[in-house]
Amino acid sequence: MARVYNFSAGPSMLPESVLNKAAAEMLDYNGTGTSVMEMSHRSKAFQGIIEGAEALVREIYNVPDNYKVMFVQGGASTQFAAIPLNFMNGSGKADFIITGRWANMALKEAKRYGDCKVVASSEDTTFTYIPKTKREDFRPDADYVYYCMNNTIYGTTFKYIPDTGDIPLIADVSSCFFSEPLDISKFAVVYGGAQKNVAPAGLVIVIAREDMLGKARDITPTMLNYQVHADNGSMYNTPPCYTIYMCKLVLEWIKSIGGLEAMKERNEKKAKILYDYLDSSKLFKGTVVKEDRSLMNVPFVIGDKDMEAKFIAEAAAAGFINLKGHKTVGGMRASIYNAMPVEGVEKLVEFMKKFEEANA
Ligand SMILES: *Cc1c(COP(=O)(O)O)cnc(C)c1O
Repeated sequence: MARVYNFSAGPSMLPESVLNKAAAEMLDYNGTGTSVMEMSHRSKAFQGIIEGAEALVREIYNVPDNYKVMFVQGGASTQFAAIPLNFMNGSGKADFIITGRWANMALKEAKRYGDCKVVASSEDTTFTYIPKTKREDFRPDADYVYYCMNNTIYGTTFKYIPDTGDIPLIADVSSCFFSEPLDISKFAVVYGGAQKNVAPAGLVIVIAREDMLGKARDITPTMLNYQVHADNGSMYNTPPCYTIYMCKLVLEWIKSIGGLEAMKERNEKKAKILYDYLDSSKLFKGTVVKEDRSLMNVPFVIGDKDMEAKFIAEAAAAGFINLKGHKTVGGMRASIYNAMPVEGVEKLVEFMKKFEEANA
């Protein structure tokens, strides 16, 4: 079967050239006579892979020298606990901006460990917008401020970095990882699951300022202690070797197309094609306010459940898969991460136009 256009929110599409390279190296990586899946994580070959991946993270994101880059496991969801255990270590207070389900899950987990305050939230409209915050909103003695930069389920994204003054800022960037340039120096910690934009599932990349590390609570499980991973080059235990290898290939691909400036341009172009059509359509409607629209996740509705089911089924039959929206929003969602080619979005919009004509 021909490859389809996969609009899944995650795990999601990977660049075809990356998959081809992985296929070509499957049985014999670089003259080792083994697959990366089979090699010791202590081998020279794998050492080269993980160091190469870290170097690319640093280069592509311009990570300042006083930040550690760690490859860890457990998904973004495990970091929801690791973050308070590692960083809620002064006043025991953390402030949250709540813009969707993932921020809420992080809040719920952090509440087990200390005094969490919701400083701003868009829950009042089921997260259709990004609330504005200012420095005075945050408690000056908070150990950190936490937010989720791109809201995978609701399709909103922060177009500004919250000003928290001296309070460390921590962001979940899972669904906008490496999609556009980001000034890492504005953050104390940035982390994301890899399966949206960077690799297959099984890997989280944590970028943390050095002064944040080394102050984890005593009860912190060793595997959740970021200092342990930083001190051991992300090899305290067996890392997800193959996923890290895939991550390296994806980062090489990002670099090869011109880095994050080029990625951003490409992502803006794709998103514009889809949003412009949604704005002109009489059948389909976007669900979030225009100024906070995500470049990565585009939810939309028809407003008639049967018609939506018909659209999703016909789209899948035509080679546009995983367009069903999250159960909390309903309707449809097209996730158009880095790996989605411009042509995939153009063809989807063509298909939507035809569907609209046929069902007017
Ligand atoms: C997918 C996602 C998560 C959850 O990731 P897991 O790896 O499944 O734990 C968390 N935050 C955001 C923004 C996501 O998109």
